[in-house]
Amino acid sequence: MPKADCKEYVCRPYCSFYKESQKEEMSCRGAEVIKNLVVQQLIDPDTLPRFEKNGRLWRNYKKIFAKYICEACPFRIDGCDFMSGAPEMDDNESIEPCGGFILLSLLVENDFIDMSSLEAVV
Ligand code: SF4
Repeated sequence: MPKADCKEYVCRPYCSFYKESQKEEMSCRGAEVIKNLVVQQLIDPDTLPRFEKNGRLWRNYKKIFAKYICEACPFRIDGCDFMSGAPEMDDNESIEPCGGFILLSLLVENDFIDMSSLEAVV
């Protein structure tokens, strides 16, 4: 999936790792799953929850999304501190996941989607 497809509604507004000038061939798995939700019309990119910096929320979804989202992400092994598995990272609420993960946690937490919708697009 070209990154340009979802940079407007995932990467730019939600991801602290996104750099405007940087061309990346790969998208993180979180952004891909969001795009699938848009394509399946399960969410509307014009009415998404506002960005919220919430380390506790991200940690609450870490175990759940590890299986559904992050396991298949090209950045998980070498490029994602949040999912690195290092114990010192686990207690550090300032380490952010990617924008796709952040948006997915907000979507589930605020009842925009439920887990069955998520399972249908991963
Ligand atoms: S949190 Fe990390 S491993 Fe999970 S989808 Fe985002 S970049 Fe990939």
